[in-house]
Amino acid sequence: MESITPPVIAIVLPCYNEEKALPETIKVLSELCGSLKKDGRISEKSFIICVDDGSSDKTWEVIDRLHQKDKNVKGITLAHNRGHQYALLAGLMTAKEYCNAAISIDADLQDDPNAIVEMLDKFNDGAEIVYGVRSSRSSDTWFKRNSARCFYKLQSIMGLQTIYDHADYRLMSRRALDILSQYRECNLFLRGIVPLIGLETAIVYYNRNPRVAGESKYPLKKMLQFSIDGITSFSASPMRWIFGLGIGLLLLDIMVSIYVLISYLYGETVSGWSSLMLSVWFLGSIVLISLGVVGEYIGKIFTEVKARPRYNIKNSIGLEL
Ligand code: UDP
Ligand code: MG
Repeated sequence: MESITPPVIAIVLPCYNEEKALPETIKVLSELCGSLKKDGRISEKSFIICVDDGSSDKTWEVIDRLHQKDKNVKGITLAHNRGHQYALLAGLMTAKEYCNAAISIDADLQDDPNAIVEMLDKFNDGAEIVYGVRSSRSSDTWFKRNSARCFYKLQSIMGLQTIYDHADYRLMSRRALDILSQYRECNLFLRGIVPLIGLETAIVYYNRNPRVAGESKYPLKKMLQFSIDGITSFSASPMRWIFGLGIGLLLLDIMVSIYVLISYLYGETVSGWSSLMLSVWFLGSIVLISLGVVGEYIGKIFTEVKARPRYNIKNSIGLEL
């Protein structure tokens, strides 16, 4: 689809028990949208879409009230709480039918909304995906800052391609969203999937602010679960490590065998020790190598069942796409 100027922009907010934060967030975002519309930067049809992720508080009533006041505020509600990533996907997939680009942002104003202006500049310059990257984490607690750092390190050790210090604050064009819709995996980790899309990308830096109201919905347990999901949904490398460990152990086994045989020849051993040592080391390494081989096949099944698109077409000449 040709992008129309000015573009229709959708701002997608996943909301879980955000009754306290939403009014302020919507006020700030509406003001920003209003001024962008006035300047002719975005279409009058641009809108904000709140995704109520099965909240147990009055979030949905708040969204409804905000919609009555301003019809540019729209909403969907999920039948039950599915988590941030799924709420975000639901919002993006709903919005993509009505917009040229969608911007996902948390409902607590931690991501500086002013970065949206720069995201639009990059989008107008041809970027199809614009990542919001935190330039500082000073407002986060020491624990959150360092646990996040470990998380990114671990991801890169595991061979996962993610953008450092980018959460889910980003702009995606309609085309990028269409491609995203073809990734049908159930274990959703958008930060890992979006870089797989390809296309033109850009980065915008912003400061992370403290939450405007309410509390974080990501306690340690959820954060750990999220990191484990992220790694296991993208990398089969832990299984390869088992194979590597097996090979390493086999090499060690050769050295141990030499030592055991020499000790045996010099008669420095008690009866049964040499045969036991040889078999324990040998069998240990064979078991690990076998596990590694089985793991390699499981790794193949793992990538096959995801049924990710094998390629994404960027452009064509002489063909209508
Ligand atoms: N969120 C959600 N479903 C959940 C948990 C969180 O939609 O099950 C939303 C939440 O309302 C917020 C965003 O995801 O808009 C990020 O959550 P939060 O701010 O609590 O995380 P933190 O910034 O503390 O990591
Ligand atoms: Mg937050």
